[in-house]
Amino acid sequence: MKPAPFAYKKTRTLKEAIALLGKHKDARLLAGGQSLIATLNMRLSAPDLLIDINGIKGLDGIIKKGSSIEIGALARHTQVERSELIARHAPLIALAMPHIGHAAIRNRGTFGGSIAFADPAAELPACLLALDGEIEITGPKGKRKVKAEKFFKGLFETALGPRDVLTAIRVPAATKDTRVGFAELARRHGDYAIVGLAASARANGKGLSDVRLAYFGVGNTPVRVKKAEAALASGDVDGAVKALDLDPHDDVQATAKVKKHLAGVLLRRVAAQLMEARS
Ligand code: FAD
Repeated sequence: MKPAPFAYKKTRTLKEAIALLGKHKDARLLAGGQSLIATLNMRLSAPDLLIDINGIKGLDGIIKKGSSIEIGALARHTQVERSELIARHAPLIALAMPHIGHAAIRNRGTFGGSIAFADPAAELPACLLALDGEIEITGPKGKRKVKAEKFFKGLFETALGPRDVLTAIRVPAATKDTRVGFAELARRHGDYAIVGLAASARANGKGLSDVRLAYFGVGNTPVRVKKAEAALASGDVDGAVKALDLDPHDDVQATAKVKKHLAGVLLRRVAAQLMEARS
């Protein structure tokens, strides 16, 4: 299918992009186009203007700022996947990257686009939730920061307003006691996950503390499972699986019952990773 007709404008500055969003009620920002163009072609969306933000300078950096890692919204998935800084300081994100689609998609798709699109089966929103990351948003009134916990509000719904641009993402840089784990089950490598799990914790003696388990593919947003986190922090993996406070729905990939079972399987795998000496 072909998209409905739309106008196209390539912007060079954030200010211009925000002004255009203000003038056109039915405009969409175009980043890597790997989700947006598909929705246009399927006529799930028919904006009258696409505002191409790829020409805005300074939005694609990956830098360490004090105890945080900042990823610019326009950093391509491939750039993040190959970044030494990410491998060293944000190992959970490094583990997740190869699971995002295929190389061609990762060459164009952007980190910010994935977070803004907020597909509930996507890897990166869950990683941000597991890492207690924050999202920087620039709008007509300037910049603001929103914690991942508050950013993902519903199915493809986020804290971004109609005149906002997501400009960066920040996660705490890993320290010596950081432990991370990642696992997903998909029909074929590169497909969206049936169920996935991103996790972070701190090594605490022989155990764990600050356990954060963020599932994807099991709800309208990435989902934390706080009862299971508490059980895992006390070293009780069986108890964590039993306590899994998840309520998935049937979808095209699997029934709720299968998803719940798979969530338990992934929890055992990720618990083993968290308990390994990884940082
Ligand atoms: P776009 O498609 O350009 O935009 C997506 C949406 O976000 C649009 O509504 C756009 O207006 C908005 N947006 C983009 N950037 C910003 C910004 N800076 N500020 C505010 N709004 C913004 N993703 C996964 O996570 N896991 C997968 O397994 C996976 N598999 C895929 C398989 C296929 C075949 C394809 C085509 C895509 C797949 N994707 C997958 C999606 C891919 O990761 C996309 O790159 C990502 O979802 C969107 O990023 P993008 O830069 O392409 O955004």
